[in-house]
Amino acid sequence: MSDQHKYVMGEDRIPHSWYNVIADLPAPPPPVLHPGTGQPIGPADLAPLFPMSLIGQEVSTERHIEIPGPVRDVYRMWRPTPLYRAHRLEKALGTSARIFYKYEGVSPAGSHKPNTAVAQAYYNKAEGVKKLSTETGAGQWGSALAFAGALFGLDVKVYMVRVSYNQKPYRRALMETYGARCVPSPSMETASGRAILAEHPDSPGSLGIAISEAVEVAAQNDDTKYALGSVLNHVLLHQTVIGQEAIAQMEMAGAYPDIVVGCTGGGSNFAGIAFPFLGAKLSHKRDVRIIAVEPAACPSLTRGRYAFDFGDTAHLTPLVKMHTLGSTFIPPGFHAGGLRYHGMSPLVSHCKELGLIEARAYHQNTCFEAGVLFARAEGIVPAPEANHAVKGAIDEAVKAREEGRSPTILFNLCGHGHFDMQAYTDYFAGKLVDQDYDEAMLEASLAALPKVAAE
Ligand SMILES: *Cc1c(COP(=O)(O)O)cnc(C)c1O
Repeated sequence: MSDQHKYVMGEDRIPHSWYNVIADLPAPPPPVLHPGTGQPIGPADLAPLFPMSLIGQEVSTERHIEIPGPVRDVYRMWRPTPLYRAHRLEKALGTSARIFYKYEGVSPAGSHKPNTAVAQAYYNKAEGVKKLSTETGAGQWGSALAFAGALFGLDVKVYMVRVSYNQKPYRRALMETYGARCVPSPSMETASGRAILAEHPDSPGSLGIAISEAVEVAAQNDDTKYALGSVLNHVLLHQTVIGQEAIAQMEMAGAYPDIVVGCTGGGSNFAGIAFPFLGAKLSHKRDVRIIAVEPAACPSLTRGRYAFDFGDTAHLTPLVKMHTLGSTFIPPGFHAGGLRYHGMSPLVSHCKELGLIEARAYHQNTCFEAGVLFARAEGIVPAPEANHAVKGAIDEAVKAREEGRSPTILFNLCGHGHFDMQAYTDYFAGKLVDQDYDEAMLEASLAALPKVAAE
């Protein structure tokens, strides 16, 4: 590789910098707009919510951004994460494809999320912030930020989507063990939560609502900033340690993927594994197919509209151009809670529009079937979200068998499912329903998209 595009690894085999794919894209992503004026926002507009260092990363066009020493020191607790060849899964499938997976479940919180939680906690602490407020869907992000908050001495307040709060009491216990406070969302603590509860007292909650609550609290308190676990450019940036390590590890195995697969909720673990490979493809013509897998019950990339929309339900955030189901869309309460977001990362959406990635959607039962097959072959029980990536990889391997091809497939096993065993129990009992989203709600939600002159 040319020097300007080298992913430099330390002696500890952890990358020195995060990789910013924007530097290599053929077209820049659309601007973020102020909902009032319809004009591009500036750093000052985001200052109440985020520390300046993260705002700088959000708009950066630098290819490589150095990882601060204290962040690398924490990464070293579990990074580099292992890259495995799924020999036993290959055998179970009778495929001639070679299947590799990068396992992010070895982090203390059990997923890829600490890769950005640690970085965000570090930068907030460095700028004198005392408290962080955030949302969590399945509880993975809340656990990750609670862990990072404990390491850097920050108070963490988590608004947890109510359906998950009820489904996953042990995720809440984990957050509390790390010292965070966790409340079910919608809550009575914020104006956004009270407004939803007034209309829908039984609201199961959604990531969009929980984001509104967390943003509201940060906007109203000087010592509090907001932390987001996905979607934003700086979050995707921090996750690129995954793909950079994977490239180095595959090199050690004398391999390079023809296909890279990741599941997409807000797009961060997918981008984390895919963007470094995409960078190598854009600058060095190392061809690779990149596949995003999403839930059929919340299919933003495959069924959403590419349009400017709010990131939250109460419309407190700026407008970003993304594949969206509309900010008032509430997906049914399926088990991959981390994938229940109405939108998609603007950067992943932009890559989809540029034709650089593919997307597909699966129902949950077929994903659990894939996850169980994987667990019985490889021993690791995937998070329900990760089962979507497992399913995507298995489908490619089966297709290869049928077509007599032998591609190399790499997927991101972004987390373990040890806190999600109720979902597996329900699956074995035949209680999981392949719910479709409500078409009428989707239509109404899309009809209510904000009107933006710039489009
Ligand atoms: C949060 C989460 C997701 C979804 O978020 P992305 O930003 O799309 O990665 C997927 N898998 C796991 C294990 C998660 O914790």
